[in-house]
Parts: sequence; structure tokens; C-alpha cells
Amino acid sequence: MKIFVKFFTILTISSLVFACTHDHQHPHHPGMNPTLYATLYQQQAAEYRALCYQAYNLADLYLAEALKNKYAKPLAIVTDIDETILDNSPYQAAAILGNFGYPTRWADWMNAADAWAIPGSVEFLKKAAEAGVTIFYISNRKEEFRQPTLQNLEKLGFPNVADQFLLLRQEGEGNEKESRRQKVAEQFEVVLLLGDNLDDFSGVFEVDDAGERMLQTDLNKASFGQKFIIVPNVVYGSWVNVLPGNQRGLPAEALADSLLKGLMPF
Ligand SMILES: [Mg+2]
Repeated sequence: MKIFVKFFTILTISSLVFACTHDHQHPHHPGMNPTLYATLYQQQAAEYRALCYQAYNLADLYLAEALKNKYAKPLAIVTDIDETILDNSPYQAAAILGNFGYPTRWADWMNAADAWAIPGSVEFLKKAAEAGVTIFYISNRKEEFRQPTLQNLEKLGFPNVADQFLLLRQEGEGNEKESRRQKVAEQFEVVLLLGDNLDDFSGVFEVDDAGERMLQTDLNKASFGQKFIIVPNVVYGSWVNVLPGNQRGLPAEALADSLLKGLMPF
């Protein structure tokens, strides 16, 4: 009997230790990873593809209108890179299957320079560049990934692939992009901004509160599909980071605390 009690005690303690040490990791089962559906949507849903085409068709329409106007400065488009024009879902898929999370192996993925093009992005930006619009890439990728980023963009046929058009996040700088946008605006009329994250459009969205982001979106609703062109990213971004109590890597159970139930009785 004594031996059974001892065995049971050891089993209970080891289960507790396992539970504590694995509290902030996804269980090693791809089906338990909270980003599985989001990643599948980006890779396998034709609806995702259609949304991307919709975004770039709207960009095309709005640019055609803008080109009819007269401006004092030459025209520019500011675009984000990741999940706006480059698709990093193969990295996300590897992370789910290998049970790791960002930033693990992100450098390997960057250096491979093998991200895919977001549907519609190359065609739109090439057409805009041919119409005389200068394309600026403003990304929070680090400087150390400059060369593979240029290589990846070049390989996919994007225009203006050169150092002076690629404004990356500098050492010691935060994620904010407003100062880099203002630098472009000193010499250019920025007619269009492309992004997957509201922070890609304006500093007013760079807030850490989900409710405030909603409010700012409502206040700026007339700009979406016009000067602000948003491409869907259901996998990651500020929208995930500001979820109440969320930290990157939390399990699905913790994310469920952010669900809104309305009047659904329980
Ligand atoms: Mg992005």
C-alpha cells in the first residue's frame, strides 16, 4: 500500500511540475495551437485570396482617382512588407508543426528570402511605379535582414527595390512608423498607405487598448478602402497583442478570456 501512495505522490508532483513548466507553451499537438485556423485561412481559404485581390483592386481604383489631381510634390505610396505584400505563412506553418513560436527560427526564415507574394500586390505596385509613383517600403524588420529582404522583393518582381526605398526599424527604435512616414512626406505626397496592421497607417492607431483601437477605426472609417488599404492578417499583429491579458505564446484557454458573449446565456 505504502509503495502505491509513494508512486501516486510522485505522479502527482511530476504532473504539477509538468503543468507549471508548460503553462506558457502550446501543447505539442498542432491541433491545440491557437494560430492553426488563422494560418490555414491564410494558406488555404480562397476567401483570403479574394480579400487580398479586393484590397489591391481598391488601391488601384483610388490611385487612378488620385492621379487625376495636381500635387506640389511627386507622388509616393508607403507600404508595409510582412503580411501586406509578403506572405510569411510557411514560417507560421513550421512553427505550428515544430511547436515553437516567434522569434525562434525567424532569422533562418528571413535569411532564406523565400516569403511568397501576397496576391495582387506585385501587379498593383508595378503598375503604380510605371505610372510614376515612388514606392517606399516601411517595415519593422531589423537592419540585419536588409539584404535578404531586398533579395526576396527583387525575386518576386516588386518595383523600387533599393536601399533608399527600404526604411527598416533601426537599432534601439520602437515599432512606431510615424517618424519614417513623416520623413517620406517631407519630399513626397503620400497618396496611399498599404498595411495589414492599423499601425501601418497612422500614429492614432498606435495604442495599447483594444477599445481605443476600435474607436479610432470608427473615427477614421472614411479612409479605409481609400487612402488606407488594409490586407487581412488573422495570424498575428497589434490586434492580438492588445487582447486583454494576452502575451505572445499564451495557450488557447487564456485567449478565450477575451471572447465577448453578448446576451448568450450560460
Ligand atoms: Mg505587416
